[in-house]
Amino acid sequence: MVYQCKICKLEYVEAKTAKECQNWCSTHDSCNYLIAKQATNKDTAKGLSVEADERFKE
Ligand SMILES: [Zn+2]
Repeated sequence: MVYQCKICKLEYVEAKTAKECQNWCSTHDSCNYLIAKQATNKDTAKGLSVEADERFKE
């Protein structure tokens, strides 16, 4: 069972995280990198407009 953000389609193990993502996505035009990196399908996120904070780039 995964929880999906209805806006960016990223999937999360925890409903709480999915909700955080959805809250962010509904108020911003991009994903929060800190949230998106927890997604189980985060490879998909690479194709989305993810708001990458330079400090957290790998
Ligand atoms: Zn999202």
